[in-house]
Amino acid sequence: MDHLPVFLRLQGRRALVVGGGAVAARKAELLLRCGAAVTFVAPELTGPAQQLLAADQARGRLQHLATSFSAEHLEGVAIVIAATDASLTNAAVAAAAHARALPVNVVDDAERSSFIMPAIIDRSPLVVAVGSQGAAPVLVRRIREQLEALLPERLGALARFAGRRRRDVQQALKPAQRRQFWEGIFAGRVSARVLDGDEAGAAAAFTAELGEFRAARAALGQVYLVGAGPGDPDLLTLRALQVLQQADVILYDRLVSAAVLERARRDALRLFVGKDAGTSSTPQERIHALAIDHARRGLTVVRLKGGDPFIFGRGGEEIQALSSAGIPVTVVPGITAGLAAAAAAGIALTHRKLAHSVTFVAGQFAGADALDWSALARPRHTVVFYMGVAQLEGIAAALLAAGAPATRPAAIIERASLPEQRIVRAGLAEIATRARAARIGAPALLIVGEVAAAAGDTELESLTAVLRGVA
Ligand code: SAH
Repeated sequence: MDHLPVFLRLQGRRALVVGGGAVAARKAELLLRCGAAVTFVAPELTGPAQQLLAADQARGRLQHLATSFSAEHLEGVAIVIAATDASLTNAAVAAAAHARALPVNVVDDAERSSFIMPAIIDRSPLVVAVGSQGAAPVLVRRIREQLEALLPERLGALARFAGRRRRDVQQALKPAQRRQFWEGIFAGRVSARVLDGDEAGAAAAFTAELGEFRAARAALGQVYLVGAGPGDPDLLTLRALQVLQQADVILYDRLVSAAVLERARRDALRLFVGKDAGTSSTPQERIHALAIDHARRGLTVVRLKGGDPFIFGRGGEEIQALSSAGIPVTVVPGITAGLAAAAAAGIALTHRKLAHSVTFVAGQFAGADALDWSALARPRHTVVFYMGVAQLEGIAAALLAAGAPATRPAAIIERASLPEQRIVRAGLAEIATRARAARIGAPALLIVGEVAAAAGDTELESLTAVLRGVA
């Protein structure tokens, strides 16, 4: 594409048409239709141009300078068309316009033109412009004829009808709902009536449809899938906090701390849908059903999940279930436990000198072949194991077997960001024994990698040295 298609506003601007023949008359007529004041420059006018001049006499927007073109005719002009049959004259007009950086079209001469006139299908205010950048005018004409046949004559009326109602719709509907509403209008009976010429019927149908759409939307609640962060309520996002303040119903997990729930609207109904130690978990289908039922009653439902909903949180399944029930879902991300744990332990997960990458792993699969242990054991790679407390021995053994050194730093962060937070650090060979001795329990995360070195460890000393060097 080497031309920018634009719609130029010419209302009240001056346009110059050099030439007095039939082509010049056609161009002048088009310019007049766009509201321009047009001047013909031509020693004499032929029939069509004279007729146009006569037809416009009352309005006085078309005038004729009965002379040859000279550069001063370009004074105060916004657009120029050279439509004489003398190519020398056309070239002179183009050169003078270019010298003043005025947009100029030389009829049938794309080389000399700074813009091309497209073929137009006019259903104002709806206008389709087609061009081939000068390559195939006949093809363009064919396409215009096909589009003419395809686009109903009253399409412009439909666009005007919609245009007059845009503001009403903006006032009645939220931005996210408007598109769906308009799609329905253009595909349905309102559009059909406008195209049939029944504007009054269309107006009545439109009012009814807007009312119905609005009522249906108001009746349908909204579900927010919200990340509650690692536990410290100060680590909630502002958005999560706003949504918690609007909630009618909160469906929360075991990992959501009491302090976070405290921040929710006082009279919100709080339903625990997690797994209590020892008891069986709430089946996923039951959680979906609860969210859907409450939303269908027009309530604002917050599905609150520890950390971030999309990190080992089954958030994807919940969105799918709600969407297929036709319930709008908005996701609010949260600070995942891995990031909070790293922050708590001062572990820069991807410290430039010590790690190129970081992997979040579901640790309960340790031992299974599902994990690529040699990749996880690579030097300069940080691994964060979620849900791995019960498998600590297995994880450490697998990493060692895959080639990680016994001294590879590791840290366990229990209840990160909460008042009871504890951190245990050791080399990979000892981390499990140390954690057991300290009676570490869930929820806790294991971080393995050079970046996990603690103060006093050689790695950290080198890291400190690096940082000093940077400073
Ligand atoms: N969606 C959650 C993770 C759910 S999986 C998130 O993004 O954080 C549950 C695992 O997360 C736990 O087994 C534990 O490994 C980890 N976890 C969650 N909260 C934690 C916390 N406050 N401290 C340490 N680990 C935590």
